[in-house]
Amino acid sequence: MPIHTLTEEVSSAIAAGEVVERPASVVKELLENAVDAKARTIEVRVRRGGKGAIEVSDDGEGIPADELTLAVARYSTSKLESVEDLGSIRTLGFRGEALASIGAVSRMEIITRAQGTLAGSRLTVDGGKIGQLEPVGAPPGTVVRVQDLFFNVPARRRFLKSDTTEQAWITRLMSRYAMAYPDKRIGLETDAREGLRTSGSGDRAEVLAAIYGLQIARDMIPLVEPAFGRAGLAINGYISPPSVNRSNRREITLFVNGRWIQDVSLGSAVTQAYHGLIMVGRYPIVALFLELPPGEVDVNVHPAKAEVRLADPNRVFSTVQRAVRASLIGQAPVQTFAVGRPEEARSSSGLAPSLWAERDAHPDRVVQPVSQQPMWVPILRSIGQVGATYLVAEGPDGIYLIDQHAAHERVLFERLMRQVNSREPESQALLESVTVELGPLELQILEEHRSVLTSLGFQIEPFGPQAYRVRAVPAAVSGISPDRALRAVVEDFEENEAPLAQEAEARIAARVCKRAAIKAGQVLSLEEQRELVRDLERCSAPRTCPHGRPTMIHLSVAALERQFGRRG
Ligand code: ADP
Ligand code: MG
Repeated sequence: MPIHTLTEEVSSAIAAGEVVERPASVVKELLENAVDAKARTIEVRVRRGGKGAIEVSDDGEGIPADELTLAVARYSTSKLESVEDLGSIRTLGFRGEALASIGAVSRMEIITRAQGTLAGSRLTVDGGKIGQLEPVGAPPGTVVRVQDLFFNVPARRRFLKSDTTEQAWITRLMSRYAMAYPDKRIGLETDAREGLRTSGSGDRAEVLAAIYGLQIARDMIPLVEPAFGRAGLAINGYISPPSVNRSNRREITLFVNGRWIQDVSLGSAVTQAYHGLIMVGRYPIVALFLELPPGEVDVNVHPAKAEVRLADPNRVFSTVQRAVRASLIGQAPVQTFAVGRPEEARSSSGLAPSLWAERDAHPDRVVQPVSQQPMWVPILRSIGQVGATYLVAEGPDGIYLIDQHAAHERVLFERLMRQVNSREPESQALLESVTVELGPLELQILEEHRSVLTSLGFQIEPFGPQAYRVRAVPAAVSGISPDRALRAVVEDFEENEAPLAQEAEARIAARVCKRAAIKAGQVLSLEEQRELVRDLERCSAPRTCPHGRPTMIHLSVAALERQFGRRG
């Protein structure tokens, strides 16, 4: 084929592909247009996962009749004029591509009436062909109807997933925007069934309840604004306590300047903040909303506008991480808080914040699950052991029952992670090196994670085609059998699991500690009990084991008094 310029039809279908990937992208663009048009109410109707039809109506500014034909043309926008404007974008749209792109790959109809005008107008675009503008009666605002998405792009249509899956994308997307814009009334109807609906009251907690249910919404922790005193970066939102978690990162939602973005680095700032508090391989529910001066955010990275470039990514990263961590630990002044320094965390605030106090007020609950209490523990006095499994200790505010295995796991885990962070892990050489035989998949997994093991303090090397030789183990878990330690690393690893380096370390450390920790049923001397309790007190997150399970339960004096009828 000789070189030729693509026809308008082909080039616009290609360009459209960058903006409209699936039905949810249509919903996103139309939602964003409604937001830019300052709508108070946005109603979305979807049929067959958006493959049948998508309709978005709003009560926003509307489009003047004489601009409607232009609105559906490519690179036509009311939101941007000059190149300099790109540095100060305050709207969600600016590329002038969405309506043109959607119209190029579907049958689209727009009915709109500009606020303050008397009549509405209607325009259709059918696979890129723009129809005649007609006057119609319509309420102020805009309705965009999109049918037969990708009817003229079979390659794309084939890649769509089932109706249910596409619908799930749309629902999740709508939930995110509902959280970002609690002051807008947002409704979703799918195949004539009522879906998500928010009141527009401006109360984000209420939106959370509509999305996740009352129980989870109640457990969510409002983000503590970090008191950095640095201008120009505001952050707020909600994060789940470690006990409320999911098996993937999908419920970690990030908005920058009102725009939903998918950013791996910011996402890991969040997961790192949960480091050691949440069960390994589990992820929190998080909705964070960052506001930055527009000049510090480059939104013109991709046509779908789902990525941004930040002028100072490190500052944003650390702000997010510290804000989340501080909110989790329940300590307000962020600057004085250092992970791994419980003494400091304790003295900086002294009392649990009111958030916790409110939760402690459940009179029907004698025993508070760990997730509902502050993360640190007070100085404890060991009293004894029950059933060779639980330690009993007294604190200034009642009795603590400690699971000796979980507690020891926590202690070992923090010791091991400190080694990792020191970059010079202490190893305990074995008197005689031990050979561990493994299957082919296990060998592969071990090979992949060998550097992690080294950073924990293991010294291992391949030995023949099917075995590894262990020369040294981390000093923090020197009692562990080398065989058990290596197997802990390779067992129940999902094949395509590719965690971030830091997560891999934590995950492997947690597994090793589980194997190395004191077991239930092991009798401990009072001296050993004291030592364990003391070690636990010094942990930065003593109330959960590395897998997120509680290490202790607390019977407060007040709860005891209630139970004994001494108090009402
Ligand atoms: P962009 O949003 O990048 O400007 P679009 O193709 O999405 O590009 O929209 C083109 C123009 O049409 C917008 O700039 C805006 O003026 C107008 N428009 C689109 N949707 C709406 C709406 N729901 N209400 C009011 N105006 C709209
Ligand atoms: Mg737009």
